[in-house]
Amino acid sequence: MLKIQENLSNVKEEIINFATSVKRDPANIALLAVSKTKPAGAVLEAYQAGQRLFGESYAQEAAEKIQEIRSQGIRDIEWHFIGPVQANKTRIIAEHFDVVESLDRARIAKRLNDQRPPLMPDLRVLIQVNISREPQKSGIAFEELPNLLDFIDSSCPRLQVAGLMGIAENVRDKSEILPQFQALKDAFDDLCRKGRPLTVLSMGMSDDMAEAIAAGSTEVRIGTAIFGARQYHV
Ligand SMILES: *Cc1c(COP(=O)(O)O)cnc(C)c1O
Repeated sequence: MLKIQENLSNVKEEIINFATSVKRDPANIALLAVSKTKPAGAVLEAYQAGQRLFGESYAQEAAEKIQEIRSQGIRDIEWHFIGPVQANKTRIIAEHFDVVESLDRARIAKRLNDQRPPLMPDLRVLIQVNISREPQKSGIAFEELPNLLDFIDSSCPRLQVAGLMGIAENVRDKSEILPQFQALKDAFDDLCRKGRPLTVLSMGMSDDMAEAIAAGSTEVRIGTAIFGARQYHV
């Protein structure tokens, strides 16, 4: 029972150490606890240890978990969708999430915009960029960012672009990872300089947190290091 609490405090300590070692203020790095495939009980354990930001990748599974947790009167969790967004899941995502980090297509943006319930606040979104340039990975190419942003500006009033998200290549040789994160940071800074009010640069997972923080991440997405290894039943 105490394991999740202990893992959480270890991860927070690591964030502090990595940030300090590159002279960054750890307060500028948010921790998203990635609870995909984990039961509501695991989320509640982390919640009781003070965690408030949670990330999920499977829309249907997440919606059930979110409802179960809300039915216990817990309403101050911020839910982030971080998985690939399928067109037939946009409604359930628009109805349950506070942030979508994995937006990478105009058609999906429009659906999320149109399906966001009127009484909910605007949906915050991050644009996912394919920073590793692997063909099988989600995310748009850097070159496509301006077009997608223009489309959202002109056609999606219920979406608020809050930043960028990237997943580095899963490689042992960590020296390949830092340049991928740095390229996303450059794109982020460039958009900020052009006047876009971006605040979230989501990069870094359990295995590449140090590189992401060194490159300027403002939010790390951590699953395994908090909840343990995942078992997939499907
Ligand atoms: C699963 C997932 C994570 C968490 O990965 P860990 O290696 O378990 O920390 C982070 N980001 C995304 C987009 C994910 O799908």
